[in-house]
Amino acid sequence: MNHESLRVGLGWDRHLLVPGRPLVLGGVAIPYEKGLLGHSDADVLLHAAADALLGAAGEDDLGTLFPDDDPAYRDADSRDLARAALRRAVDRGLRLLSLDAVVVAERPKLAPHRAAIRAAMARLFEIDPARLNVKAKTGEGAGPQGRGEVIEATVVALLAAR
Ligand code: MG
Repeated sequence: MNHESLRVGLGWDRHLLVPGRPLVLGGVAIPYEKGLLGHSDADVLLHAAADALLGAAGEDDLGTLFPDDDPAYRDADSRDLARAALRRAVDRGLRLLSLDAVVVAERPKLAPHRAAIRAAMARLFEIDPARLNVKAKTGEGAGPQGRGEVIEATVVALLAAR
């Protein structure tokens, strides 16, 4: 493979964790007493993943393409936004080679859900699960992550010209 055909993208996102909302991470509903606040379903992991794809493709970021003050995206399923980001990359002649994610959440414990999230995201992005990983970290009790006020996600994606 020609190294010059490679593109790397980085995405990051954070949403507030509040009562009365469903918690959706990587397109998977996680049972918990709180959920993420946002205009869409607030899937922080898919938002970071979409921004990684868009970044690698040289596209505008997620918030520019799908503004959070646009009623069309109210309660949007973030899987649709993520698919749209992948489609933009594909339209630019790129394919996704691998994707790696870190989710920082003090609660709930995400370890029991990692495999399901990984499988769901691999299906969504149409790559082998061996090429997509999701790691769960805590905030060690410090900062807004550690106090359980927010969940954050960071995603790196590697794409190549087809
Ligand atoms: Mg977001």
